[in-house]
Amino acid sequence: MNNEIILNEHNKEEFPPAHTAEHLLNQTMIRMFGCGRSFNAHIERKKSKMSFHLDHKPTRQEEKEIARRMQELIDEDLPVTFEFVTRYTLPDDVSLERLPDDASEAIRLVRIGDYDVCPCIGKHVRSTSQIGRFEMLGTNWDEHEHSFRVRFKIV
Ligand SMILES: [Zn+2]
Repeated sequence: MNNEIILNEHNKEEFPPAHTAEHLLNQTMIRMFGCGRSFNAHIERKKSKMSFHLDHKPTRQEEKEIARRMQELIDEDLPVTFEFVTRYTLPDDVSLERLPDDASEAIRLVRIGDYDVCPCIGKHVRSTSQIGRFEMLGTNWDEHEHSFRVRFKIV
C-alpha cells in the first residue's frame, strides 16, 4: 500500500475504443469550433453521444469534416500514452477545471500522439487504429441552449 498511487475512482467501466474516440472528438471539436470539451457525454459500446456548447450550428459540411478528421486520426494510428504528474507539475496546456476538488495528488495524463492531452484514468486502446471506424449516426442542435450533440458508434 505504501507506494501505491491513489487515484480517484473512475465512475464507470468504459469500452476502450469508444472512450478513446471520446478524447479525439473532444480535441477535434476544440480545434474546429474553439469550444470547450463536451459538457455531457454518454459513452457506450453500442452507441455514444457527446454534447458541446458552440457559437453556431455546424453546417452539413462541418459535420462531414468532423467525421473525416476522426477517421483520419484513427488511420494515423497515433500512440496513446500516459504519465503521472501532480497538480503542481502540470503542463501548461492541461486544465484542472474538470477535476473534482478532492482530486488525488497524483494525476494521470493521457496523451494521444501530439494531438490531445487530458487528465483521465479511464481505459484506452494502445493506439488509435484499434478504435476501428468512427461512424457518425446523427447530430442534434438546440438553438436555445446553443448545444450540439453528436451521436456516434465505433465499428
Ligand atoms: Zn480517457
